[in-house]
Amino acid sequence: MEKISLVVPCYNEEKNIKLFYEECSNTFKDYNYEIEIIFVNDGSQDNTLVELEKISQMKDYINVKVINFSRNFGKESAMYAGLEHSTGDYVAIIDADLQQKPELIKNMIKEINKDDSIDCVCYYQERRREGKIKSILKKSFYKSINKMSDIDFVNGASDFRLLRRYVVDAVLSLSERSRFSKGIFSWIGFNTKFLPYIPEDRKYGKSSFNFKKLVKYAVSGIISFSVAPLHFSIYLGIILSVLSLIYLISIVIQKIFFTIDVPGFATIVACILLIGGQILFVLGIIGEYIARIYLETKKRPIYIKKELIERKATINDNKDEEDKNC
Ligand code: UDP
Ligand code: MG
Repeated sequence: MEKISLVVPCYNEEKNIKLFYEECSNTFKDYNYEIEIIFVNDGSQDNTLVELEKISQMKDYINVKVINFSRNFGKESAMYAGLEHSTGDYVAIIDADLQQKPELIKNMIKEINKDDSIDCVCYYQERRREGKIKSILKKSFYKSINKMSDIDFVNGASDFRLLRRYVVDAVLSLSERSRFSKGIFSWIGFNTKFLPYIPEDRKYGKSSFNFKKLVKYAVSGIISFSVAPLHFSIYLGIILSVLSLIYLISIVIQKIFFTIDVPGFATIVACILLIGGQILFVLGIIGEYIARIYLETKKRPIYIKKELIERKATINDNKDEEDKNC
């Protein structure tokens, strides 16, 4: 029997975990696949781990793994750990907050089975359900990153996707520390089928991605997948040099041919401030890239695992035993 692994990053999801598990348990009952759920507790500060431990002691037809991180490493690291521990022929990445219905995984399986050339199925938000400003900012982010980078970023594409085994292996082969999965999924290539969906409302708790975190994530994405900001300093330098040359020539002409004294103080101060600001700005961009090189060369692990709890499917085993007794 083929196996589907569900990778579920969890950060402060104590109220959602049980509901999520029950929904999965109902959804995949009598389904023709073996099911494995890998919960990654990403350093939650609430009772998420307690809830996960409870699930790992339940008897059910689902195989469960709980990876407990030593601290909060972020969703990207949690997804990486989950993929690393997955053993399924297909692997789905899904959030624990029930914004993404487990039922839709069946849909993705249907799509991928229709056509052997499809390697990956991904849900994207056709209409964003968030505030206008956030939605406009996200749209312009996708526009700019698509201009700056050679690879394609699909606006609204989520991490809610289903991968074939070899796609999972390809994702894992990119072991960079600062991970931007939307870029990684595009960079590895493969044939991806995009399906539209409308996310549900979060059941309990609130999103961990506030505005500041999203900006940081966006900057990290641009730096990971484009060197265009570095080229920007060359263009800025050329434009400034041409402008100052024109200004210099005009001053010389005024002085020699028209003997006009050009008042200098205000102009000099303005120029120094302008150029100084631009130099610092460009240095900042270069600094961001150097910081990435520095962090990558340390080769620190993407996450640290404190413990791994495993529960094999118990109900099926019982069934086998009953069969043998008969
Ligand atoms: N998450 C995580 N680590 C974090 C932040 C979030 O594992 O540092 C998980 C979270 O528990 C959820 C998923 O990533 O299952 C998506 O997070 P969230 O719902 O906060 O983001 P949004 O849906 O608003 O994009
Ligand atoms: Mg969410």
